[in-house]
Amino acid sequence: MRYLYAPWRRKYILGRKKRGCFICKAIKERNDEENLVLYRGKHSIVLLNRYPYNFGHILVAPKRHVANLEDLAEEEVLEMFHLIKRFIEGMKRLDPPDGFNVGINLGKYAGASLEEHLHIHVVPRWKNDAAFMEILADTRVVNFDIRESYNKLRKIFHED
Ligand SMILES: [Zn+2]
Repeated sequence: MRYLYAPWRRKYILGRKKRGCFICKAIKERNDEENLVLYRGKHSIVLLNRYPYNFGHILVAPKRHVANLEDLAEEEVLEMFHLIKRFIEGMKRLDPPDGFNVGINLGKYAGASLEEHLHIHVVPRWKNDAAFMEILADTRVVNFDIRESYNKLRKIFHED
């Protein structure tokens, strides 16, 4: 199945301000499927990005609402990187990408969409993914379903 949805970006930009911190909301509410929570660690959480740049675009965040890298405790750093490692291993088994982007946007001017709650983006990349689309038209060709993605990716964190 192939979807082309253009309006999400606009909806995202308009809707974000009202929603507050979606990471804290996801942590507080025990509605992991609705909030796309893939895994709850002791100190951190893994979410599927609702506005993905690619299949398997996840966010890894500390459970504490902190903005700065220097605010992170050692155990948060360790657990988050452990979860990234686990995710990359899992993706390589599930649907091997040609590469990964792992990154943090610190501050609004660095492109952070939610600057008050630090989160690490992990984006699997494939040779032919159509990054030019979003540059040209702020649209995204998405050839996967978010629920299907959620169910597939959740397994990475829930198999022994
Ligand atoms: Zn928060």
